[in-house]
Order: sequence, then C-alpha cells, then structure tokens
Amino acid sequence: MRLITGPPGSGKTTLVLEAFRQALRGRNDAVRLLVPTATLARHLQNRIAREGFVFRPGLVQTLSAFVAGWAEDLPQVSDAALYLIVEQAARRVRRPEFAQVEQMPGFCASVARAIGEFASAGCDSARLAAGLPDAPFAAAFLAVYREVERELEQRGLALRGKRFERAAERIARDGLNGIRTIWLDGFHELPDPELRVIESLGRHADVSLTFEAMDARLQAIGFREERPARSRPSPVVALVAAPGIEREVEEIARRILEQAAAGRPFREMAVIVRAKDIYVPVLRSTLERFGIPARFYFDQRLDQHAVVRFLTGAVDAMLSGWDHAQTLAVLRLAPRFADSETMDRLDFAVRDLMPDSGLGAMKGLAEAVGADRVAPLVDALAAIEEWRALTLAPEDWTARMRTLRALFRPAVAGKGLLSIPLHSQAPALQQFDRALDEAAEALPASRQIGIEEFWRAVKSVLRLIPLRVDDERRNVVHILSAPEARQWVLPVVFVCGLVEKQFPHFHPQDPFFPDDARRSLHPAGVRLRTAADFEREERALFDAAVSRATLLVTLSYPEFDARGDRNLPSLFLDGLAVDRQESRAVRPQPRHPPGPAGPVRIDAPALLDFLRQKTARVSATALESFLQCPFQFFGGRALRLKKAPLRPQERLDFLTQGLIVHRVLAEWWPAGGDIERLFETAFAQACEEKRIPRGYHTERLRNAMLDDLQVFAADGQWERGRFESRAELEFAFPLDSLEVTGKIDRLDVTAGRRAFVIDYKYSNSQRTKDKRDNGNLLQAPLYLMAAERCFGLEPAGMYYVGLKKEVVYVNWKDALPAGWSTDAERRTLYVVGQIRSGRVEPAPADIEKCRYCDCRDVCRVVIRQAAAEAEGA
Ligand code: SF4
Repeated sequence: MRLITGPPGSGKTTLVLEAFRQALRGRNDAVRLLVPTATLARHLQNRIAREGFVFRPGLVQTLSAFVAGWAEDLPQVSDAALYLIVEQAARRVRRPEFAQVEQMPGFCASVARAIGEFASAGCDSARLAAGLPDAPFAAAFLAVYREVERELEQRGLALRGKRFERAAERIARDGLNGIRTIWLDGFHELPDPELRVIESLGRHADVSLTFEAMDARLQAIGFREERPARSRPSPVVALVAAPGIEREVEEIARRILEQAAAGRPFREMAVIVRAKDIYVPVLRSTLERFGIPARFYFDQRLDQHAVVRFLTGAVDAMLSGWDHAQTLAVLRLAPRFADSETMDRLDFAVRDLMPDSGLGAMKGLAEAVGADRVAPLVDALAAIEEWRALTLAPEDWTARMRTLRALFRPAVAGKGLLSIPLHSQAPALQQFDRALDEAAEALPASRQIGIEEFWRAVKSVLRLIPLRVDDERRNVVHILSAPEARQWVLPVVFVCGLVEKQFPHFHPQDPFFPDDARRSLHPAGVRLRTAADFEREERALFDAAVSRATLLVTLSYPEFDARGDRNLPSLFLDGLAVDRQESRAVRPQPRHPPGPAGPVRIDAPALLDFLRQKTARVSATALESFLQCPFQFFGGRALRLKKAPLRPQERLDFLTQGLIVHRVLAEWWPAGGDIERLFETAFAQACEEKRIPRGYHTERLRNAMLDDLQVFAADGQWERGRFESRAELEFAFPLDSLEVTGKIDRLDVTAGRRAFVIDYKYSNSQRTKDKRDNGNLLQAPLYLMAAERCFGLEPAGMYYVGLKKEVVYVNWKDALPAGWSTDAERRTLYVVGQIRSGRVEPAPADIEKCRYCDCRDVCRVVIRQAAAEAEGA
C-alpha cells in the first residue's frame, strides 16, 4: 500500500489523477477513486469528463457510498432520524442532569453530534462505559447513548462507525468483486473504523492513499511512504484590508470583474470562505449586485425554502385555528401570487382587521375585495382542516401529508414575478417528501398519534435536512468552504475573512466531554479530537486554501466589525511578507439605469387638468409635503397611494400617539379638568378605533404619553391667564385661484385681539427646534394669515410646542418679518404653479426625512443615489 505524502500543493492529487486517467485510457474499470464528500466526487467526475474521458460515474465515489455494498443489511441512520431518536431517548431516560434542557432542540442536537463523533471514532457505548472519563455529564450522556443504540438496533439501523466495521470485516473475508486498484484522495483524518476498511481494501487491491504525513497507525497496517517528485509553482500572494465586510466583498467583486475584463473566464476563479454564516449571505447579494455569476457549494436550509415554508405554513396556520396573520403569510407565498394586485387588496383588508382567525372569515374578505382567484386556494386549505381530529400511525400521516403537494401549483416561467426560484421547486418538494418519510421512520411504527406529535417530528427533520440545488452553469465563480476547497486547483483564488475567531475558526469546548476528558480516552484508543487538533486542522485548512491558486491568491480581511470595533487580523497573516493593499470604494453599474436625470414632468393635458383639480383646495401640510419632495406630494396627496395597514403591534405609531395627545389637549386646555381622566378616555377610544392590542409595548407608550401630558399640564412657561383660547379651528381662505385649508391646534387671543397660533408637536424636541429656521415651511405664515382672514384677528406670532419628554416652545421668527404674508402668498402660488406644471420628480429637500416617507419604496431614490455615486466612482 502506497502512502503519498506532502504538504498542500505538493502535487499529491495530481499524481493520483494522472494514474486514474492512465487506467481510463487503458479501458481498465477495475479501479476506484474514493474521496470523502459527495461534492468532491462530483467535482472530480466533472473535471475528468471535461477532459474528454468517458467512464461510469461510479468509478469516482465517496468511501461511504463504496462500502454500502458490503453493509446493505445495516442502513446508516440519517442525521435527522438520529436527532429524533436522541430526543425520544433523552425523554425516556430522564436523567436529572438534563431535566432543564432535554426538551430543547439545541441540547438534542449537541447530544446527537457527540454520539455521531463517538460512533465515527469506533467507540460504542460499551467501550465508552469501560473507560468513562471523569466529566460532570459523562454518566448521563452514556445513559442516553445506550438508549439510542438500543433503539437503533431495534430498528435495524446503525451509526457510521458500526457500518464501517461491518464492511471492513466482509471486505477482508469476501474480497472486492474484482476491483484491483483503489486511490483514496482528499482525506484529512482517518478514524479507526475507516482505517480498518482501508486495511481490508489493501488485502485485495493495490491501494494508494494521499495524506499529509506518515503516522504510526498507517505504518502499522503496512503503508509505504512516497513523495511526489514535482510540486506546483507557488502563486503570487496579495493581501487586502477593507474597512468592513461589505467593502471587503465589494473589493473581491471588483477584482473578479477586473480579471474577467482581462479575458479570464469566471470558472477559473474561486472564493474560499471559512465563516460561512457571516460571508455567504454578503457574497450572494454582492456578487448578484455586480452581475457576477457564482455557484455556491453550500447547502441551503430546507425549512427556509419558499416551497417548504408554503407547505409547513399551511399546516401551522391550520393548527393555529387559521390565525389570519399566519394564513395571509401562506397565501402570499403561493406561487403566481407574488405580483398579484388582488392579493395586495386582500392583504390590506386582512391587516386592517387583524387579529382575527378562521378560514370562513378569510374567504369572506377575499370575496369582499374581489379576490376571486384566491378563493379556490382558501377552499383547498380548508380540506386539511379535518386532520386536527385524526389519530393515525406515522406511516399514514406521511401518506396523508404527501397530499399537501396538491396545494402547491408550481410557478411557471414567464408568468409575472415569481416568489420562488423555478429550478429549486422540484428538489424542495422531493426533500419535503423525504422529511415526511424520515419523521415516520423515527417514530414508533405501531403507535397511533395526533397531528401535533407527528408534525413536531416533521419540523425537526425539516430543520436538519439540507437542500442542495444542482446548478449546471459552467462559467461561474466557485464559492467554496475551506474544507471543500482542499481538492480544487484554479488560477485565481480569493480567501476572505482572515480575522481571529473566523479563520482560524473558534471551536468551543464540548459540553459533555471537554478536552481533559477527551485526552483521558486516548490511551484506550478512542481518538476524539481536542483543541490542539482543531488548531492544527485550522492551520492545515489555511495552508490548503492559500495553495489552491496557480497564479494569484488574494487574502482579505475587514478591519472593523459590524459594531465598529477593530478586528484582530488572523494569526495566519503574521510574518506574511507582502504589502497590504487598501480596498477601493466601488459601486456596481445599475443593470436597469434609472431614467434621465433632471426634472421628471407630467405633460399630458388630461393629467395636468387632474393636478389642477387636485390643487383647487390645498392644505398647508400638503404644500410642505411638495416642498420636501415633489414625488412625495404626487404619491401621497395626488395619487393618494395607500400604504399597507400596520400590524396590530405597530398600530400605536407616532401618528396615533400624536392624535391621542392632540385630542386630550383640545379638550383639556380650554376647559381644564383631570388630564389623566381625559387621557384615559382618549386612549381607550383610539385603542378601540384602531384595534390596538394591549400588552407591554402599548402599556409602555401609554405611560410615556401620560407622563408627557402631566409634565405639560404642570408647566408654567406660557402665561395662559393673558389669553382667551380656542382649540381645533378649521379654516379655509381664498388665495388667487385656490383655497388654502387647515386646522389650527390652538389660537390664543389677547384682550387687544392679537392672536398667537399654537401648534403641538409630539416628536422629539430637536425636530421641533429645527422648525424655527427651516425656510421650506409654509404652515406658520399660512396659519397666521388664517387668523387674520378667517377669524379677524391681528397675527402676533406662532409657536411650535414640543411635548415629548420635555416641553419646548419654539417661536417661528422672533418677530414677524416685514412682508411675511406677501412672501407666504408668493411662495404658496409658486408651489401650486409647480405642482400644476406637472413636476413630480423625487428630489428630497432633506434626505434624512426619506426614512419616514411612505413613498420610499416606490420613488427609487436609493437606486438613483447609487447610480450617481457609481458615475462618480
Ligand atoms: S423617500 Fe425621499 S425621495 Fe422618495 S418620495 Fe419620499 S421624500 Fe421623496
């Protein structure tokens, strides 16, 4: 048996692949190339096929698939089924040490992981019991492990290690069915059961194994060490530091595009990722924005796929009694309704009436808003209602739940916007069926159970089953995990996220068997990995990643994390003799460039006529809306676009809080009385009108409003005795070709008929103070004109009164400037002239206010900004 050793990049794989090609050229199919993972097997199959070789795919396979032929009578338990068996076993053994946590998914997942690790190392519960380490949870863990093994045996299932032991025995005894040559490549650790299989292979075939170095176990079973004669040339190394992770990934995208522009196909480049949870989402969105085709060699979570969320959402909604929020979420996920206007109408109607429940009420709403297309789907959902009353065997539940597929009418290409990517629909449905099967297998076959118990098992399995969608595109950048990348070799490679705790990855201590306990098992031959092994493995992963490139490897890291704290660069970068390069700010070219810059106008005569009618009567707040942004006025005031009704927990928003405070003050200021009692009445009225649910959030805001009102009631800044006060005064006065309207919160009039306009603001004091010198406001002078023209008073001044957290009086101009009303008239007529001339472009006077604007999702101001920045970049 040959052991081909050497560090990453020393040519071990090249040697093996050349020998494999040689066998294919000689039409010798008594050979096998065995690798550790299915993706690696697929990658090598594709790579060799692309070179023009024709061969059976089974000649390249995983070691696990290879041994299956010798352990057919001992199927391996799947990860999902093992999890469910652990969950049940933990419940049965009821160890006091686990009493607080045995129901928690995280706990059962940890136990299942640890059992898998012991089993892979060839340590069953009996072997563990013989040398049980001194660790606080060791005995409790052993009890669960025994129970799991008992359950597996009863079901005729096995863990990986036992299966390998069985295959090793049979191969040693029966031979390899004519297979003469085997290469094993890509293995970085060899637990004892796998080593026993390799030893058995060596008795019947010529075995070659690539490994980093010779060790005593390999020597003991007869391996002879060889080193490849030629190693690959080292690539050029570049190091890039970016201010943050987004800039780091944008820099990678920029460099990929630079390479592509120089003629390098995308398929010759890869990005290697160690911290996948952090980097994969950012890479996905950034490469998509930059228009870079990429294939991600990472599994997706099945339970997060839209098809599965649709199907599981239907059952969850049924179990909730068709709670309308849950049912609406399911309807919105239905394929073909993604861009449905009908569904939008139903969505608004449902939100308005939430909280509510029941399919009958939902159907009634669908009919009321004319959502006829939705009604059949609501009827179809009603068909699963009867499941709540059933008690069935797990297998029967599986058969019944397979009918859920009937609810799902697959999306079709070319039919409007799709909520679900087309190519992933079928695999997601197949995996959903597999989850049903696995849940049924993990539950006792003979027991009749209700839907809740079966459904809990299905949802646990759905969390654990991965979804990998085949992507047959060839010219794509490969996004690989560091372990996956070990067998790849490409001209240009990027290794990102080189900061401490990410690469090298931080491995926390195992909760059941910390390092000391693990080390104590080593003398008995149970080789569980410790922190030192993990550290070595991280170093090996880094060395492998860096050596994947033949021409250029670019290492990168973000200098700051999301909180703005400085990251510690990876210790693997210490001593790297390369200059650090800075990242460049860069933006993608917009794929659909926004329309021409400059004024966007309506010029159709009929539409201009419509705008003239709309501005025959105009309020001061509408004019201020135009001054903030023409598009805001157009969307909100001219078109009256309606935003989605707020969810129950959001209904006590700033607007409603302001409404309550205004109502209280309109009554309390002129008449006095108990402000708390008035507030309680106004608050209860608002809660009823807006169907605001009671709860902690509502109570907190209620207390804050009452406190603010009481502080205002006790405030002595305003000499109220000097005035006669009038509240909530509506007005309208003519101005040239229009009528100006509005409502004054309070008008305080002196004995000499001088009037002060008071406008309450229930917003933070700074926003109130900012109104003093804001030249874009028209409310103050128009309200003062109303005091004069509608109520026959002499305008004396206008005060904004901020009420939130503190009472602030903000005087609009310390003294009314000369010509203020002529100026207000001129500006009002100018604004109305602009509206009537058809100006509707998004042009915010204060971009900070865009956050609060209801039109922000339709005006595309963000896209325009990005385009402008891209031009400048
Ligand atoms: S978000 Fe800003 S730019 Fe867009 S409509 Fe509103 S104010 Fe105008």
